Amino acid sequence: MSTGVTIIGAGLGGLTLARVLHVHGIPATVHEAEPSPAARPQGGMLDIHDYNGQLALEAAGLTDEFRGLVLEGRQALRILGPDGTVLLDKADDGTGGRPEVQRGELRQLLLDSLPAGTVRWGHKVSGARTLGDGRHEVRFADGGTVVTGLLVGADGAWSRVRPLLSTATPEYTGKSVVETYLFDAGIRHPAAAKAVGGGSMIVHTPGREIFAHREKDHTLHAYVGLSEPQEWFTAVDFTDAAAATARIAEEFDGWAPELTALITDTDTPPVLRPLYALPAEHRWDRVPGVTLLGDAAHLSVPNGEGANLAMLDGAELGKALAAHPDDTEAALTAYEQAMFPRSTEAATSAGAEAHGADTDHDPIRALITALTRQDEPR
Ligand SMILES: Cc1cc2nc3c(=O)[nH]c(=O)nc-3n(C[C@H](O)[C@H](O)[C@H](O)COP(=O)(O)OP(=O)(O)OC[C@H]3O[C@@H](n4cnc5c(N)ncnc54)[C@H](O)[C@@H]3O)c2cc1C
Repeated sequence: MSTGVTIIGAGLGGLTLARVLHVHGIPATVHEAEPSPAARPQGGMLDIHDYNGQLALEAAGLTDEFRGLVLEGRQALRILGPDGTVLLDKADDGTGGRPEVQRGELRQLLLDSLPAGTVRWGHKVSGARTLGDGRHEVRFADGGTVVTGLLVGADGAWSRVRPLLSTATPEYTGKSVVETYLFDAGIRHPAAAKAVGGGSMIVHTPGREIFAHREKDHTLHAYVGLSEPQEWFTAVDFTDAAAATARIAEEFDGWAPELTALITDTDTPPVLRPLYALPAEHRWDRVPGVTLLGDAAHLSVPNGEGANLAMLDGAELGKALAAHPDDTEAALTAYEQAMFPRSTEAATSAGAEAHGADTDHDPIRALITALTRQDEPR
């Protein structure tokens, strides 16, 4: 591996791979499209599971540092009916296997664990081509190129590396979420803060749902889910924040005001996120010198597993390369043969059970699965 590993994408998956390679003394370079680590807000909280994300952090040698980022009490869960009735109120008793961290802090932890210069910021990949003998040429938007003996696409949903391996492209799932933030909620939005409680809150009805978290600094972060075709959202003017939130809130007519406040009282313009997925069985034949991880390999409708799986992919690929120092193809084959069924299981919601979480006795998993399942558009 004298030329080092070329990783495209500095998301959680690509960075975990770079870190695990570093732990094993294997050089890597990460090419990231964004100009800097702070170029984009990194989104909200992630629960990191003991059967995938935490295993990855262990392989990265970062378990203690990860523990330092955990937000205490955030594994609390409330399930409400649309009228505000509390159906379940589960406190965080410290025994859950899914501690919550801020995604941005976790990404920064991984960045700080890499040798300076590992990530090349502002390097947007425009395409890649096979040169033969397992080598690939990667092209950047600024006209530059790099030739590598091992290329890893960790570049998310719209991967520019994926076409080297597969013709699959993500398809709209029939559902979108609208993201809102309410700041300083205890003082400025007390009714909504009470409804959400100390951790997560879920309200689910067919085709309409709200999933909210209490993040750091008493911020409420809500994902408002609507199962509608994309044309439906095109008719909503998201350039006019007040009109857009009013239109979305109309769809929740009759819901308790402390719940619709999570839409109408947003302190930031609402952000529309259409949800796309690759086929759950997505896989490819081995192509020498290139592979994929994370969303690039198995983009799925959000089910609480995506970031966890991306990190586990990165860790498992790094370990496989370390275990086969003179045989990259053997490493890629071992990695892919384990990754394909693992991601299919997760996409079909069987993953947690396969790893020992009994969904009958795990309301968080069962309800998040219910929350994120793909309803038919109404
Ligand atoms: C609304 C929503 C909520 C979610 N909630 C959760 C959750 O609670 N828990 C969970 O585990 N998962 C969650 N997910 C899924 C999770 O966000 C993804 O599965 C995860 O981020 C995938 O990580 P990744 O490293 O594969 O890709 P990404 O995080 O997408 O990182 C890809 C990186 O590649 C870079 N890149 C892209 N294109 C190029 C290019 N051409 N050239 C160079 N760089 C490029 C990007 O800028 C980015 O930095 C959620 C997803 C959504 C949409």
